Parts: sequence; C-alpha cells; structure tokens
Amino acid sequence: MSSFENPLISTPARALPRSIGVIGAGTIGPDIAYYFKSEIPGLELVLVDVRQEALDAAVARLHGYAEKGLARGKLSAEQAANVRANIVATTDYGALANCDWVLEAATENLELKRRIFADVEAVVRPDTLITSNTSSLPASRMFAQLKHPERATVTHFFAPAFKNPAVEVIRWERADAAVIEYIRWVFASTGKVPLTTADEVCFMLDRIFDNWCNEAALLLGQGATPAQVDSVATEFVNAGPFFVLNMANGNPIIVETNTLQMEEGEHYRPAEIFHSAGRWDTVAPGARVPVADELAAAISDRLAGILLSQSVDILDRHIGTPEDLDLGCRLAFDFRQGPLQMLRERGEAECARVLARFAAERPGMPMPTRALAEYARFRRFILVDDVPAGDGRVVRVITLRRPEALNAIHDEMTDEILATISAAEHDAAIAGFVITGYGTKAFSSGADIGRFPSLLGDAEAGAQYARDCSRLLVYLDRCPKPVVAALNGMALGGGLELAMRCHALVALRHARMQLPEITLGIVPGIGAMVVPYRRWPAAAETFHGMLLRAESLRAERAAELGILDACVATQAELIPAAVARVLELAGKPYGIGDAPVAIPAVSVASEPVAANGQRLSAAISAILQQAVSDAAAAGDFNEALEIGYRAFGASACTAAAREGISAFGERRAPDFAATG
Ligand code: NAD
Repeated sequence: MSSFENPLISTPARALPRSIGVIGAGTIGPDIAYYFKSEIPGLELVLVDVRQEALDAAVARLHGYAEKGLARGKLSAEQAANVRANIVATTDYGALANCDWVLEAATENLELKRRIFADVEAVVRPDTLITSNTSSLPASRMFAQLKHPERATVTHFFAPAFKNPAVEVIRWERADAAVIEYIRWVFASTGKVPLTTADEVCFMLDRIFDNWCNEAALLLGQGATPAQVDSVATEFVNAGPFFVLNMANGNPIIVETNTLQMEEGEHYRPAEIFHSAGRWDTVAPGARVPVADELAAAISDRLAGILLSQSVDILDRHIGTPEDLDLGCRLAFDFRQGPLQMLRERGEAECARVLARFAAERPGMPMPTRALAEYARFRRFILVDDVPAGDGRVVRVITLRRPEALNAIHDEMTDEILATISAAEHDAAIAGFVITGYGTKAFSSGADIGRFPSLLGDAEAGAQYARDCSRLLVYLDRCPKPVVAALNGMALGGGLELAMRCHALVALRHARMQLPEITLGIVPGIGAMVVPYRRWPAAAETFHGMLLRAESLRAERAAELGILDACVATQAELIPAAVARVLELAGKPYGIGDAPVAIPAVSVASEPVAANGQRLSAAISAILQQAVSDAAAAGDFNEALEIGYRAFGASACTAAAREGISAFGERRAPDFAATG
C-alpha cells in the first residue's frame, strides 16, 4: 500500500473494523467510542475501564448522545439504534480478544499505559491494531516492549472527539507503513482529517496548544488577568486559552505535557500558577474586558510569539507539514487562521519584530533558522499525489482540501490548482490530471462568495469578477493534457462548474450535483449556463431544471444522461476509474465546440419556485432564461462564455442579489417576493 497525501487514494488491505475496543471510560474515551459507533454501521464496541461507575456513566452518555443526535436530526433512526446496540462495557480485558482495533484512552501515565498495552497484547490477535490517544507520550516509549510493535501507534483526538475532525496519526520507526496508511484511510473514510506527525513529545498540535496556554499563564505574572488575556486572544481564536482550560479541566494536563517538553529545555517549564490554580475567572468566547494599550500589545506579541516560535520549530524538525499545521490549528483549536497564514499576512518585518521581542522575554524558545518567508511558502488548499499509470508515467491527482468549508473553492485554491497543472503541462512523465475532493462528503460545496458583495450594483465589475474567477476553467479548455474530475461527494455551484470544465467526469454513486445560485438571487456565471448545453445537449431539460429550480442531479442519473463516464459504487474504485479515463483521453484532442446548439425553450413561471419549495426571484429567472438561450445560439464558445459573465454582472445589479447575499450572511431565508 503506497502512501498518498490523500488517504482515500490508497486501497486498504482490510475493511473497516467490525469490533473496536476502547480502554478508559473517562472524559474522552466515550466520545471516541461514540464517533466510531455513529460512523461504522454494525460496529461492536468493547468499553473497558477499571471503575464500574465510569463504565455505567459512559454507557449512559452514549445513549444520551444517540437520543440527542436523533432529536436534532444529526443521526438517522438506524444510526441511533446502531450506537445503542452491541456495546460490551466491562472491567475484563479478556473481552477485547476479538477486537480488530483496541484504542487506549486511559490516564496519561507512561507506566500505566505500558502495563495496559502488555495486558492487551496478551489477549488480542497479533494483527489487532493497538493505538493510544496519549496527548504527549511518544509511541517509541509506549510500545517498545510489545511483541508486535509494528501494529501499534498513537491516534490523538481533540475534544470533542466525535465532532472535532482533527486526529494526529503518528508515524514512528517501528510501525508498519501499511498500518499507518490503513488507520489514515479509516479516519478519512469516516469524516475525520488525519494529520500525520513525527514521534516527538507532544507531537505537532499540542506543542502549539500547550505552549499557547503556558504563555497565557506566564503573562499573569506580568500584571494581566485571565479575562484580559482571553480578551486579547480573540484576535487569534474565538475562545481564549483560560476559557478552554476551564472547559477541559486542562491545568494538570499542561503541567504534565510541559514538564515532558522540559526534556528540550528549561524554557518549557509549566507556569507555577498551574499547580495551585483551580478555575480561571475569565470571559465567555467573543466577550472582552478593557485592556490598556501597552498591556494589550504585550499580550498580543507574546501570544503571536509563541505561535511563531513553535511553528518554525515544528517545520525545522519535520514534525509535521506546514499545510497540516495550519489546517490542524484551525480544525483542532478553532484558530481563526493557521500560524503560517498569520506569518504571511502580517509580513516578514512585523513577525521578525514579534520574534525578537519574544526571544528577549523567553530566552531558549525556538527561533527561525531560515528566512521567515520560506516557512510561509507552501500549498495550503490542495494535496498533490502521483498515481502510477502502469506505463512508467504517472497521473497527478489534485485533492481539494478545505474540510471546514466542504472544499469550497476560493482564489488561493484556484491559483494552486492552476499552478500545479500548468507547471506540468509539458512533462512527458505525467499522463494527465485528476481533480477530486478530500473526504467522503464533498467534491466541492461551491465557490466562496469572495469579493462579490462589494460588486453589487456594478454590472461591469461583476462581469469582470466572473472573468477573473474563470481563469482556471478557461485554462482547462485548452490544457494539452487530460484533466478528469472524480466526484467523491456533492459538487455544488462553482464546484460543479469546475467539474464540468474537466475533460471527463467520473463519480461515486452517492455523489450529487446542484446549482443552488438561483436560491441566493444570483446566476452561476462561470460556465454553468453555457458549458453543459454544449457538451451534453441531450440533457438540456435536466440543466434547465438545475439552473432554474436548483434541482439536484444524482450521479446515477447523470451517468444515464452521459454526463459521467463512470459511476462507481466504492471509493476504492473512484480514483482508478478516473486514472483509466485520463489514460484513454491522453493524446486525444479536446475542446468545447463553437457551433451553436439547439436546445428546448427555457420557460419561466411568473412566480418561480425552487425544487425545495423556496420562492425564487422572477428577475433572476429572466436573466437566466435569456443568458441560456443567447449562449446556446452563440456561434463562438468564448462569446457564449462572455454572455454568462455579463449575465452574472447583470444579476449583481438586481434587488434580488442584494437580498440573497444579505440573507446568506444573516443565515435567514431570502424574501424574493419583495424584490421581484
Ligand atoms: P480521564 O482521567 O478523564 O479518564 C481516564 C480513564 O481511564 C478513567 O476512567 C480511569 O478509570 C481509566 N483507567 C485508569 N487506569 C485504567 C486501566 N488500567 N485500565 C482501564 N482503564 C483505566 O482522562 P481523559 O481526559 O479521558 O484522557 C484519557 C487519555 O486521552 C489521556 O492519555 C489524555 O492525555 C488523552 N487525551 C485527552 C483529551 C481530553 O480532551 N480529555 C484530549 C486528547 C487526548
């Protein structure tokens, strides 16, 4: 099994686990158990603790989660029943004998964990996976004494473990590479975002978080209060360090983890106050108390300083990749942006100033070993993998990875895709490209709204915006190598416009396509009113329904209509199907024709309504109707695209667009009856 950045490109040797053991029914063990139970149908759960009361409370918690999930519509009745069924809660390690995977989430103590793993190994099969949820202890220290250490590693979750998508997976020297790939595959197949890190104390993300909390506590010695530190921290995060420490009962954890980091130097010593403090007197997320300017600057610099210091150290020591570091900070800790994005936005000079101050205040803390700008230079929003084509060449697979936005496309992602393909367009070793989305839910949920709100009322600026946003798509029209879209999940709006511009499309059976723009009071301006009619004219009625009523198109139906070249049942078949299509297309000319297409008339109701019953805008429907007809009649593909861009600009000048965009921002339903 080869290692790919996108874990779902691998084809695993094993299926999803059928039985999982979780050891430790304290704070996080039951949450991890709930994640597995709600994601893996038919899973047996064996929950082990030394305290019967912890087990009883954990089972009650799992039942409570199932009930709440069902009541809130987050779980189907079947999923809720699946969570409640098949749970063995016991103090007997023997019950773990048939588990495919045993995950330990017991008290953070090396000796205790070593004893637990010896007990586990005595009862399970030699190939049963054994992983630990430790926050800080390296795998090499915990698993060295196992008879079969190759099946063991650390899988580090973040609270709340059923909701927080980040999980660190530790690649350590004695672990079998196939085991690591399998674990990454399980996580990515079940809604998590595995981040692979090196086997260092505290791994990658807790180096950021524990030290961020420790600096916050050290600032109290300089006259700041917890509420003041949390107030200033809102610049970086929604919930400040003291608020989170209260929530997670985190004081002893910081003492534990920072003491461990002191192996690397005295500068990691945990703040003395952690030993005596209980709950911190602080403000709720988002709230602020007054802080004098000079103190606010000192707090801000110190917090930025620790983020930068730890980030450069993580990269210099190859503990994790820059893209995983930034993504992990956003996902695991809800940082507004990753520290490397902060570096880029603040600029080299400002960050050098912050670091110089930090070095003076905190001697010994890691400092950059190369130019700061170098740390910020990396691809943030796509993963790139080369899949062997079988003829000595490779197919380059680009994975859109922005899991917090269901892989929505924005300017930077567009530029990364464009740069990646164009850099290799003449490389003979590359047969072509596949574009897919990260995870199982979405290929791409659309395009970010971006600068659009600032263009409302300006038709020319709106049209130019659409032209600018099309730069990747018009490149694909003339790309000399085939580019195939592999739809791993929903493709909406701008995401579908990207897929439709690829030279062929393949999809998983559960994928669906939709153009929801009209429900926002705008039109899809970068190809959707033009391209599908020229490529698949026989499906014109379907596209009318998608554009004018936001109807959803299932992958199976799209395959029947000839829009998809393949519709496959499992993720394991998806990338191979896309790669095969690239190889079939390689060397063949590609282009969307200039000839006009005859399509059925587009009719619009006087009071248009979407497929979901939402009232739509008559003005926007009329713009759409005209643009679709004019573009089909145009005798030149580029002119047809221009019609789409101008229609987008025209839609930006309607009251409906203003209402739709405001409603979107305010998370309410738009009122198109009032706007027309
Ligand atoms: P906890 O103290 O709340 O729970 C630990 C549980 O382990 C207790 O119920 C205890 O009875 C049980 N236990 C102790 N010895 C045992 C043994 N020999 N066999 C079976 N069970 C035993 O701790 P927690 O916060 O749930 O953390 C568990 C692990 O997860 C730790 O390694 C911690 O560092 C890590 N972790 C916790 C969080 C979090 O948010 N709580 C986040 C990431 C990682």
